[in-house]
Amino acid sequence: MKTLLRKMDQHLVDSNIEKRARYGRKKNHWPTDSSVRFQRDNGLTETAGACLRKLYWDWKDVESDPTDARGLRIFRTGSQMEDEETDIIEDMGLLIKSNFRFQLSPDLLGTKYKLSGEIDGLVWNPDMCRIEGLEMKTGYGYNFDKLVVKGNKSTKPAPKIEHVMQVMNYLTAFNVDVFNIIYISRGDFGKKCYEVSLSSDGHALIDGQQLWPFTVSDVWNRFIDLEEYLAKEELPPRDYYIQYPETVIEAKHKQGEIAKTPYGKWQKDPTYPIGDWQCSYCGRLGLCKTM
Ligand code: SF4
Repeated sequence: MKTLLRKMDQHLVDSNIEKRARYGRKKNHWPTDSSVRFQRDNGLTETAGACLRKLYWDWKDVESDPTDARGLRIFRTGSQMEDEETDIIEDMGLLIKSNFRFQLSPDLLGTKYKLSGEIDGLVWNPDMCRIEGLEMKTGYGYNFDKLVVKGNKSTKPAPKIEHVMQVMNYLTAFNVDVFNIIYISRGDFGKKCYEVSLSSDGHALIDGQQLWPFTVSDVWNRFIDLEEYLAKEELPPRDYYIQYPETVIEAKHKQGEIAKTPYGKWQKDPTYPIGDWQCSYCGRLGLCKTM
């Protein structure tokens, strides 16, 4: 059946559309909705994490672009692998509880709506004789291997900032000193574990070191910002660039953030797409382009 693969792709896409329709309207903030605006050492202000404009459309239940079969396979494979890695910890007798649901109250967050989520697990650390949190993540590709797992001569590896923000919420919800973010590469199976804790004033500490200047309250303040836009029925500005303006491309190229090949293509053809990765993965890209 030569058409089998095409039919499989269509089935995947259709099932996902049906699944999403069953979720209904969003009622709570989620840990993956976390975001922050903060100043880098070079003085530039940067946004990290979820785009408020995308979240606004999520809350308004505006239909999103369908996820293609490739994207769905990437997600399914990652999720299955994360479960299998957690099974190893269970076999070792160290998994106390997996897929643990929790909530943070509006009173604590300063918001109208609560935050609800689910952690991957709580594990027993026999070396420290204490319970710790577990967040299992997988990824692939040169950037994942270089920035998150291995690093290179000029770059020390670090956890993804959006994962750290998720875990800052978990650390608030659970009475544990440490959450372990375990990364496994789906390419070469490289691996890395980061121990994330919260300082007394709410900064994330990665293996005991503060990498970013923001606190968990700064993350919650963005939920408050979003709720204000929702109350006013006002579309938030874009947090990310679909296409960088020329000045940003030049600045990012100078800082080594845009590689030689895409920069060369853009020089020959200024419509060549170079923007933030958040937009290229965004389910509202089609809509956002029209606004
Ligand atoms: S396309 Fe980019 S700017 Fe627009 S909603 Fe999505 S992430 Fe935000």
